[in-house]
Amino acid sequence: MKVLVIGSGGREHALVWKLRQSSRVSQLYCLPGNGGVCDEATCLPGDPKNLEALLSAAHQIQPDLTVVGPELPLSLGVVDEFVRRGLKIFGPTQAAAQLESSKSFAKEFMQRHNIPTAHYAVCTSEEEARRSLGLFSTPVVVKADGLAAGKGVVIAQTKEEAATTAGGMFSGKLLGSPVGRVVLEEFLQGDEISFLVLSDGERVAPLVASQDHKRVGEGDTGANTGGMGAYSIDTLADPAMVEWLLNHIARPVVAGMKAEGHPYRGILYCGLMMTARGPMVLEFNCRFGDPETQAVLMRLESDLLEALEAAVEGRVSDGIFRWSADASCCVVIASGGYPGGFVSGKLIGGLERASEMSNVKVFHAGTSKRDGKFYTSGGRVLGVTARARRLQEAISRAYEAVDLISFEDMYYRKDIGARALKTQS
Ligand code: AMP
Repeated sequence: MKVLVIGSGGREHALVWKLRQSSRVSQLYCLPGNGGVCDEATCLPGDPKNLEALLSAAHQIQPDLTVVGPELPLSLGVVDEFVRRGLKIFGPTQAAAQLESSKSFAKEFMQRHNIPTAHYAVCTSEEEARRSLGLFSTPVVVKADGLAAGKGVVIAQTKEEAATTAGGMFSGKLLGSPVGRVVLEEFLQGDEISFLVLSDGERVAPLVASQDHKRVGEGDTGANTGGMGAYSIDTLADPAMVEWLLNHIARPVVAGMKAEGHPYRGILYCGLMMTARGPMVLEFNCRFGDPETQAVLMRLESDLLEALEAAVEGRVSDGIFRWSADASCCVVIASGGYPGGFVSGKLIGGLERASEMSNVKVFHAGTSKRDGKFYTSGGRVLGVTARARRLQEAISRAYEAVDLISFEDMYYRKDIGARALKTQS
């Protein structure tokens, strides 16, 4: 089979790496990929945000299956366009992807279907936000409707800060372009987990739970990033909890989307807060998370292609995934300065030695390859991922591999997974 993966990050490298292990994949393409991906798949030039470019690449290579990594092409309707042309593609339609692309859609949908989530109000002006703030205590969470690459969520300590933040979102001062709606949300406390399921529009199969680390600094401090690391271990959600999450969240979402005429096919990523009142949905994503995917796929023992095809063809079953009982850990190495300004083009050393370690995989995110050498080309550069029987070992091995890698100004958090170790001991 010919498979095309769309995207250029560590998540896409992990998808390519796992798909390559399927005996049924004969040709693997990635658009546009990155330095590391291009060692494992044929990379095609093009911008994943440009649907014409994606369609023309698909027209050329005629893939038997296309797998979409990032959210933007999904929210632009890449799945609808491919399906219209009779091309098989993994991911939700534009209407189904609203669960991620519109926070107000997601909140109203959850309310309609009794899915546990924080109390909220949807506002269309700063004045309305000021009035609605009377219903909330502080801190209060202010969320811009629409995709904002992790920058659209502010936890305001005072109501005045919340109102000004909402105002900045409406005017466009805060995010660069104005938003039409802002969601105010009750502030929830607890541990966050990422719970992903595969859905064929009717049935769901859970992936192993994971936890990511969004803040740039150790101890979860500093600016929000695309993710500085992740780990996966079964104790994040025991079988009873997984069943609860399936029954109260994943299955009602999939049934609700079907009932509303937008069957949800693809990965449904539920970002959850495990509160004293029980698990609550913070957000949905309509695709694999990054860097959770790197940690999660490291534990997958069955054929990823089979699972993705089953979702497209409407035959997801309980046994579609087989997981290792091992734990895994992914440490992201970033360019110094990220998520602010950084300098690219630095020569990366030590990749070969790190890649030779057993049960370690170095996923590339922001790299390019020239004359056989790898250079940095983005904020998040590598996702060094290890797997071992115990989480402590997986973490140590990931950091051992990180120690072998070097480039000027490289930065990584030294505490990935540390919180889990504390709660376990
Ligand atoms: P979101 O994009 O909605 O997941 O929000 C990004 C991050 O903001 C989450 O991963 C949480 O850490 C935080 N967050 C979002 N909503 C809430 C909430 N209601 N209470 C507390 N923290 C939140």
